[in-house]
Amino acid sequence: MSSDEWGFDTAQVHAGATPDAGTRARATPIFATTSFVYESAEQAAASFLLEDLEGYAYSRMSNPTTTVAEQRIARLEGAVSAVATASGQAATALSLLNILRTGDHVVVSGQIYGGTTNLLGQRFAELGIAITLVDVQDLDAWRAAVRPSTRAFFTESIGNPTGVVADLEAIAAIAHDEARVPLIVDNTLATPYLLRPLEHGADVVVHSTTKFLSGHGTVIGGVVVDGATFDFGAEPERWPGFHTPDVGHGKEGYWARFSDRRLAYSLRLRTTVLRDYGPAPSPFNSFLLIQGLETLSLRIRQHVANAEAVVAYLQGHAQVERVHYPTLPGAPSAQTARRYLTRGAGAIVSFDIAGGIEAGRRFVDAVRLFSHLANIGDVRSLIIHPASTTNSGQNEQQRAASGLGEGLLRLSIGIEDSADLIADLDQAFAAVASDPS
Ligand code: PLP
Repeated sequence: MSSDEWGFDTAQVHAGATPDAGTRARATPIFATTSFVYESAEQAAASFLLEDLEGYAYSRMSNPTTTVAEQRIARLEGAVSAVATASGQAATALSLLNILRTGDHVVVSGQIYGGTTNLLGQRFAELGIAITLVDVQDLDAWRAAVRPSTRAFFTESIGNPTGVVADLEAIAAIAHDEARVPLIVDNTLATPYLLRPLEHGADVVVHSTTKFLSGHGTVIGGVVVDGATFDFGAEPERWPGFHTPDVGHGKEGYWARFSDRRLAYSLRLRTTVLRDYGPAPSPFNSFLLIQGLETLSLRIRQHVANAEAVVAYLQGHAQVERVHYPTLPGAPSAQTARRYLTRGAGAIVSFDIAGGIEAGRRFVDAVRLFSHLANIGDVRSLIIHPASTTNSGQNEQQRAASGLGEGLLRLSIGIEDSADLIADLDQAFAAVASDPS
């Protein structure tokens, strides 16, 4: 059986890795080295000219430990190649900076992680790159937002924190047929175990590997994954970065040199924006990412089973006004969610507690097993009250517009015993009820 035929559970353990050639070490070693010795003056020159793509030179561009993580994630997403970065934020930034220039425009889902909205709405604005935020479910709004300067569409597969699921096939059709731009999808909340956006029309996928892919709340990281499906050669004047030679990399652009190997986008990303802006992952962090990847499907199955048990418990609770989970009847994108998320809708569950902002604050103080912190995708269960923390900079109306009620609590359900999680929530509800002040 060839490795191309491996199932998900086999690929998450083996893809990209072979015993180390020098030592026969079975697990992937941590190559804690900044640099790699050139074989000769000739090979060094070839490396700089991107004629030798196999060898390593400097760990800001590539490192053997990181390569294993990249190849494994590319395999799990059904992609051609992947480039790891120091954080999810860096992955999003580089995925777009690889395409955009001052004066360009991006259409962006309005129901995404606030940090991404800050990055694109504030930092990119400082670079002269404009965005339009649209309701992810309103296909006419995606269409209407397109300008002559539009060069990308960006969405999350499952929106953080509201859980709205994007109709990727419909959005990809507008991106490709009407806007003539690639669709970039942040697949952090779904993971490739639950959804593979490239199979539904996305061209590029990004992840915060900080979350489920690493999975243990130990390491910040990101990855840009390329399906090599977008044709940057069809209208060269729209994509100058792919058609102008880069300093030190020979006389031709990336499209002319690497599109036949389907590497133009990822190789440009690695050898220009990653090289020049510099947010490379450390090999130690890549090692931790690999450890997480090896149990991804097992963890996600337990995350999903526990999330479903918690949803059922919350739905029957008198102090809960509403439960938010992508596939629940009545959820805004329930039909889309059920169509795309056939293995489960992930680990993020939100609910509106009766009593609004004060009840929300008291609840996070009352939990004992859940950890009150700003992260998701840990084996441990986590909780946060967005109105008093991550979204406290917005006013009530702004929070309401992004679907965040004052008493909304976001849970990232871990892999503990679901009965223990429910017992903890139960005692926290009782604590809030006994002190309604
Ligand atoms: N994308 C999503 C959906 C996120 O939730 C986050 C962080 O919470 C990020 C990207 C940014 O990732 P990182 O914190 O690894 O930079």
